[in-house]
Amino acid sequence: MPVIENAIILPKDQLPRQWHNILPQLPEPLGPYKAPDGQDLPAGALAAIFPPQLIEQELSDQIWHPIPEPVLEAYAMWRPTPLVRAYRLEAALKVRSRIYYKNESLSPSGSHKSNTALAQAYYNAQAGIHRLTTETGAGQWGTALSIAARHFQLDIRVFMVKVSLDQKPYRQAIMRLMGAEVLASPSELTQAGRTARAQDPNCPGSLGLAISEAVEEAASRADTNYSLGSVLNHVVLHQTIIGQEIKKQLQLAGEKPDYLIACHGGGSNFGGTVIPFCPEVMAGEKIQLLAAEPEACPTLTKGKFGYDYGDMAKLTPLLPMHSLGSDFLPPSIHAGGLRYHGASPIVSNLVKNQVVTPVAISAKDAFAYAKIMANSEYIVPAPESGHALALTCLKALELEKQGRPGVLVFTLSGHGLLDLSAYEKAPE
Ligand SMILES: *Cc1c(COP(=O)(O)O)cnc(C)c1O
Repeated sequence: MPVIENAIILPKDQLPRQWHNILPQLPEPLGPYKAPDGQDLPAGALAAIFPPQLIEQELSDQIWHPIPEPVLEAYAMWRPTPLVRAYRLEAALKVRSRIYYKNESLSPSGSHKSNTALAQAYYNAQAGIHRLTTETGAGQWGTALSIAARHFQLDIRVFMVKVSLDQKPYRQAIMRLMGAEVLASPSELTQAGRTARAQDPNCPGSLGLAISEAVEEAASRADTNYSLGSVLNHVVLHQTIIGQEIKKQLQLAGEKPDYLIACHGGGSNFGGTVIPFCPEVMAGEKIQLLAAEPEACPTLTKGKFGYDYGDMAKLTPLLPMHSLGSDFLPPSIHAGGLRYHGASPIVSNLVKNQVVTPVAISAKDAFAYAKIMANSEYIVPAPESGHALALTCLKALELEKQGRPGVLVFTLSGHGLLDLSAYEKAPE
């Protein structure tokens, strides 16, 4: 019986030991962050909520950042992750293109978010911080940070967007199991939360509002820092472990990719996937780097580039990014992790300079192809990852029609085993 070698697995000693910071290699310099009032950000503004090493990474002009040994040890629990040739998905689609997926669903939290959660928890513990606050939408980030906080012995309070908390009781359960305190946002504990509830007692909450609550609390307590799961440069930096592994794995397989695809919520798994390939692409190499965002929250395809707040209460610095407006309340689409009004400044810069291309994908397509993947590869993609998968499949079908099959790689950012109710309600 023939056994097909379908997974490209790197040995543990091939785990990348550095993160790739693209800031010094961007096509144009990133504009500076500004204070909420539009003035220059005062020195020390970020120090109220972030530890020094993360601030250093946020603004660094050095390309390579060594991964600390305790973080590497934590990564080695599940990394390097396999790059898998999706033979059965190709057959189901009847395409001759070769499709690979980078499986980031194998982490303790079930998504790529553990890559930055562990790094952030580590640096905070190093800085003598005892407690973290954060927000979570769909719950993946809260789960990842709760596990990381447990690993590095920190307390954690999670503000979870109220609608998501109601829709996803098991996400709350796993965070509590890990020792986290989980509150519905808007809450009564912060000014931002109280204001929102006074305006609308049934306020469903949003990621932007939950960020306001978590930042407000962290800024007001010396023992507490804030942790963000996407958007910021240091978060994208930590995710570059993904693209670096993909690069090694493709070399091992003797493949050159035509397309690299990831879904885009705040930009961290997309940035982490494509950044290690960006220097070549900027030098003329022909790889299409595609960001799949939801039609219902089309930040990169429809949003405007400019300075905007990261949160609803306008507490965060102003960031140079694509945005739908910080008061944009995205519809409650099933891919909760893609409901954010803004985008990573790094990814925005790459879009603006046409190094990467955004494409909007409908929820219908995301679930339709996710079901095909579930029925062929027997993996249930997270609804977010379904957007990357759908774009990959649509491209493979387009190439088939044109009679020029190629090599397509997408990042499966997470599994959907806690999103099964979304599958049941999915648009047909
Ligand atoms: C959070 C999340 C996303 C979106 O966040 P990015 O920062 O854009 O990567 C995508 N997929 C999964 C599984 C997530 O948990």
